[in-house]
Amino acid sequence: MSFDSIAKALSSGLSQFSFADFVDIAIIAIIVYKLIVLTKETRAFQVIKGVAILFIAAGVSNILGLTTLKWILDSVLASGIVVIVVLFQPECRRVLEKLGRVNTIYKATSNTEAIDEIQRAVLSLAKRRVGALIVFEQRGGLSDIIATGTKINGAISAPLIENIFEPNTPLHDGAMIIKDGTIVAASCVLPLSDDMSIGRELGTRHRAGLGISSVSDSITIIVSEETGIISIAKDGKLMRYVDAKALRDLLESIFISDNESNVFGFKFKNKKEQK
Ligand code: ATP
Ligand code: MG
Repeated sequence: MSFDSIAKALSSGLSQFSFADFVDIAIIAIIVYKLIVLTKETRAFQVIKGVAILFIAAGVSNILGLTTLKWILDSVLASGIVVIVVLFQPECRRVLEKLGRVNTIYKATSNTEAIDEIQRAVLSLAKRRVGALIVFEQRGGLSDIIATGTKINGAISAPLIENIFEPNTPLHDGAMIIKDGTIVAASCVLPLSDDMSIGRELGTRHRAGLGISSVSDSITIIVSEETGIISIAKDGKLMRYVDAKALRDLLESIFISDNESNVFGFKFKNKKEQK
């Protein structure tokens, strides 16, 4: 194939370029971009690079008329998709899960719902003087703490939270951990704070909330069984006598973030911090 004929083919191709072709290319570009973003930093990324090279090689061998090489590459690419899915089943699953999560980020109602449900549960527990300890995982992971309790992995709802802290039930003792908008575990054991300046009226539940807040960036809501007082532990400090409004502000700061990519990242905004 001469240079002249390539140029001719190119110009005739360009003159046939329609709006549909433009949309076609744009969609493929977006898919490829998303694929790269989603798989970056995973093993699958190397494979995608490899597949891209095979595609280019197949295209080049087609243009140059290398029939046998093209046939081999085409066969490899045809069965390649199945091979990739089998080899990278965990990665594929994670990528699909991430894709699903992209949609939930824009579901603002789920965050508001979570706030409503937690607020309702905490106020009801306080009113009924049922002791509770709820830890919100932030950036620092709490997997070692979660491992000490019982896995729940349940959607946030007021009835579930109240049920877990109901006295004389198997899971009511210890702390509940909430992470990525999910109740991940209950009955977890927290490290106790050895802060000597804590009031004597505060027992182990409050010391446990303080303890976890001084060794991690987590935020903890504590409901006192003895007094029904709601407290918040953060950065090794205890805020007591938290009312419904302050509780709401705290939950909003945990669940609603300015940073879009962090909607489920539970970023705590200092400007809203309660004193
Ligand atoms: P309250 O005002 O509710 O009585 P308190 O601060 O006085 O709270 P305790 O009366 O000692 O605390 O509460 C005991 C409860 O605290 C336990 O039943 C358990 O649920 C919880 N607790 C105690 N230690 C821990 C710990 N290390 N990790 C998690 N939870 C704990
Ligand atoms: Mg007590």
